[in-house]
Amino acid sequence: MKILNKENMNPNNSAPVVNDESKPYWEAAINGKLLVKKCNTCGEVHHYPRTICPFCFSDNTTWTEASGRGAIYSYSVMRKATVPYVMAYVTLEEGPTMMTNIVECDVDALAIGQPVSVIFQDTGEGTALPMFTPA
Ligand SMILES: [Zn+2]
Repeated sequence: MKILNKENMNPNNSAPVVNDESKPYWEAAINGKLLVKKCNTCGEVHHYPRTICPFCFSDNTTWTEASGRGAIYSYSVMRKATVPYVMAYVTLEEGPTMMTNIVECDVDALAIGQPVSVIFQDTGEGTALPMFTPA
């Protein structure tokens, strides 16, 4: 999947804080892969990734690669920011909804329900942020 180079990073974004629990997620992201956690006890998929399933509290969860496809659930264009950007909730094909940004798009042409696909923004600090672009 595509990774946007660090010069493209919006100043409103910052590099994530990586901890032991989220490390595999960020390692996958810098390699252009979006991971979600799947619970082996109840079968639900969740995001953001946690060791404990938020549906049934099982700790029997596994990393799985998401398709990277989703749809815009809601969005807001931050027009007054130094560099305008789009905050959004995207519902992944796998089920979970994640807070993210929509990039590489015409902000006036976005719509609720619009299909989007993942794209990664290199933070320049060894990590990449998953964002979405019109599919
Ligand atoms: Zn569960």
